[in-house]
Amino acid sequence: MTNRYDILIYNVRIASMQLNQSPYGALTSNTLGVTDGHITLLTECQTPDELERLQQMSDNVVDGKGQWLLPGFVDCHTHLVYGGNRAEEFEMRLQGASYVEIAQRGGGIKGTVEKTRRADDRTLLNTAIKRAKRLCEEGVTTIEVKSGYGLDLDTELRMLRVAKSLEQHLPVSIQTTYLGAHALPNEFTDNADGYIDFICNDVLPHIASQKLADAVDVFCETIGFSVSQTERVFACAQHYGVPIKAHVEQLSDSKGAVLAAKYGALSVDHIEYLADSDIPMLAQSGTVAVLLPGAFYYLNEVQKPPVDALRAHNVPMALATDFNPGSSPLASILTAINMGCVLFQLTPDEALRGATVHAASALGLQDRGVIDTGKLADLTLWDIETPAELAYCINGHRPTAVYKEGKHV
Ligand SMILES: [Zn+2]
Repeated sequence: MTNRYDILIYNVRIASMQLNQSPYGALTSNTLGVTDGHITLLTECQTPDELERLQQMSDNVVDGKGQWLLPGFVDCHTHLVYGGNRAEEFEMRLQGASYVEIAQRGGGIKGTVEKTRRADDRTLLNTAIKRAKRLCEEGVTTIEVKSGYGLDLDTELRMLRVAKSLEQHLPVSIQTTYLGAHALPNEFTDNADGYIDFICNDVLPHIASQKLADAVDVFCETIGFSVSQTERVFACAQHYGVPIKAHVEQLSDSKGAVLAAKYGALSVDHIEYLADSDIPMLAQSGTVAVLLPGAFYYLNEVQKPPVDALRAHNVPMALATDFNPGSSPLASILTAINMGCVLFQLTPDEALRGATVHAASALGLQDRGVIDTGKLADLTLWDIETPAELAYCINGHRPTAVYKEGKHV
């Protein structure tokens, strides 16, 4: 017997998420073969003879029982490595404490920075494993993780290393993003420009030489960093050849998206306040719009991202959890998909493409997020009648099987 396929999955309906005309990129193929972690066969098996001939080409044959096969989800925006959590702060808030009182009692992002700096690597890793595992259980096979709770050299590098090491503990690929420009650390109070100098002169050279980050991100906002400070970080990242991502237009129209487009950013994230007139620039630069309904929901926001205009200009829209301890403690890509539909009026087709093919693009990854020959065999199998069910239910499903690079996990 020739073992041409490491695994052969037959009798499946395939929502490929390929950018074709059919909903969910559905294919007529019902059989898929994997070799060396990649999809090497997609075919429509019509007769028992045909199927038998294919089955003889693999020692590992799986009957999909008519279930739907989707690409593994890609969560393209998380901050899931951090010390402590903010449940206590949540309690205080709901007991009527103001943000100032919470900050005075050591809460807010500064509190998370303190706890992250104090946590040792093992603690950071163990808590991150628990969080990432919840995403993996829903069929997420690639996660982006940002730094940004250390804000000093040592802790930022540790966060990135810990994030990457999740790959050794879970069946998931990790993409790391350096988000030093997340908040101003106490060491640089009233000296944001000095902190940008520190990022560009002291941190980014280490990150670039040790290849610790796949991208660099900035929180460009009135309460974050200005457009000119953001541009200095982008220019430095570009100098080191590291791709750019950006938190922009979450709370105000600061024109961070225009700057990001100018620098050919992979993605602009949040974008509730993005002006319609700035959208053609994103279309031109091929920048993905990453929508984060979890933060919108958690912060009780009312301004919605300009979904109609993004759609009209064919700007790809991705969806992610933004999993973080402050504004989006959301460990569920399926809930993010549902929220994208309910809160932002995405169609289920757009929402599911947003958490697969477009999320992969938001990370600059062309080898996943779709089911096609040559792509990674990151696959999920679902006992559903239609893919729309995954968006329709509020976190109501679990995959019946997950394959990471062709291996059943
Ligand atoms: Zn974020």
